[in-house]
Amino acid sequence: MKKTQILWLRRDLRLSDQAALVAAAAAGPVIPVYVLDDETPRHRNMGGASRWWLHHSLAALDRQLRPLGSRLILRRGKAAEVIAELAQEAGASAVHCIRHYEPWWRNAERALADKVDLVRHDGNYLMPMGSVRTGSGAPYKIYTPFWRELSKHMPPPEPLPAPDSIPSPQNWPHSDSLEDWALLPDKPNWAVGMAEMWTPGEYGAQTRLADFSGRAAQYDEKRNFPSIEGTSFLSPHLHFGEITPAQAWHAHRTAGGSVEVFLKEIVWREYAQNVVFQYPDYGSKNARDNFDAFPWRDVTKQDVAADLKAWQAGRTGYPIVDAGMRELWATGWMHNRVRMITASFLIKHILIDWREGEKWFWDTLCDADYASNAVNWQWTAGTGVDSNMFVRIMAPLSQSEKFDAGDYIRKWVPELADLDDPYVHDPDEFGRKPADYPAKIIGHKEARERALAAYARIKGQS
Ligand SMILES: Cc1cc2nc3c(=O)[nH]c(=O)nc-3n(C[C@H](O)[C@H](O)[C@H](O)COP(=O)(O)OP(=O)(O)OC[C@H]3O[C@@H](n4cnc5c(N)ncnc54)[C@H](O)[C@@H]3O)c2cc1C
Repeated sequence: MKKTQILWLRRDLRLSDQAALVAAAAAGPVIPVYVLDDETPRHRNMGGASRWWLHHSLAALDRQLRPLGSRLILRRGKAAEVIAELAQEAGASAVHCIRHYEPWWRNAERALADKVDLVRHDGNYLMPMGSVRTGSGAPYKIYTPFWRELSKHMPPPEPLPAPDSIPSPQNWPHSDSLEDWALLPDKPNWAVGMAEMWTPGEYGAQTRLADFSGRAAQYDEKRNFPSIEGTSFLSPHLHFGEITPAQAWHAHRTAGGSVEVFLKEIVWREYAQNVVFQYPDYGSKNARDNFDAFPWRDVTKQDVAADLKAWQAGRTGYPIVDAGMRELWATGWMHNRVRMITASFLIKHILIDWREGEKWFWDTLCDADYASNAVNWQWTAGTGVDSNMFVRIMAPLSQSEKFDAGDYIRKWVPELADLDDPYVHDPDEFGRKPADYPAKIIGHKEARERALAAYARIKGQS
């Protein structure tokens, strides 16, 4: 008789292109399990928006499993310990999982592999981390050569189909109730806008992919304009593994033209994970140590804390920044161009350490991803392993005009809904600022000079 197999799910909440599921189902009856781990030391607990997403994604996965004769078991605690205990309780001969690369998951996989037969499969990335290397065998630090090398190995293998049925054990082990985990916000329910915009789960992911296929040919032309739907909106689905990059690749590889630009963006996700694979502390530590001496403003001081709060709440007096921060709060997502502008604003205009922004995004993004978030924050700050971007200080107002953000601002900043272009980009400057909209918390020129002066204090140090 075939022995029971544990399928340990984390950010791979899907049935198709799921190598761990296929292997487990071939080996014996399968117990799919998700462990909510808020306890392992140095584990980065999920933020609020991610928890909202997780709740709905787990519910969706359980609904998909039921007609296949299976179900999802939920447990809570230190993941490596909980999975080892469950394996023993169920008499399982092996635990199958998709390889994860966050530093805490690498630790958990190592710890678990000491206790059980842990079979790790690939599938959340186009290529296993650490396998894209220079001619001399070193990992890449810069995106472009990383992309060039990776693309030599593309296309990725054909995605695996979802199984028609999953062998189930005779007795199901105990499962927590999802409701008891209280992942959803209650009072107040700040997730109303998220529920309107997103359908977490594999079905929602495939629907987004199909919708994007019709728009993919214009991706390059439209992707930088926040007023229009130019991008794929796949990021939370990719983060939670409801869809794989290989599926996205195969859906678009023959489309040609601007689609290569889209595939290059998918590879930014790979590149970010490749950087964090080399530098596990990337989410909290400057890769360039001269920035350890950077004179960031002190957020424990009242005026600085007030500036941070104004940024978080979208009340800086810079319409494009405020629109972005409010979009983020309302939907758990922000357009990429606007992420760059808001991040640059926090770091350079109000001179607050990028780690404060990284933390806020971690809590509020439903695509909050340790690697993508850290790498993009460090890239914007100039503290990262790639080129130093500190002196590239984005001017929010010219960015807003250049990328035609008028409709985007009118949507997310209702105080400015009645202002036409060009006033909406800078109501202060045109003397059109409504009484209920804040004045700029600092002028652009003054902010730029202050940032460059601060940078001059550490430039050249290492
Ligand atoms: C300060 C900052 C923080 C960010 N934090 C995150 C984060 O926590 N999680 C996250 O998924 N993305 C993050 N990004 C990257 C990017 O903004 C989002 O991936 C993108 O906006 C998601 O929208 P989309 O799916 O429509 O993207 P598309 O333009 O359709 O791109 C397709 C996919 O490519 C990947 N991708 C695109 N751009 C990037 C990028 N710059 N870095 C890494 N992957 C990329 C994403 O998986 C995305 O879903 C951040 C960017 C900045 C500037």
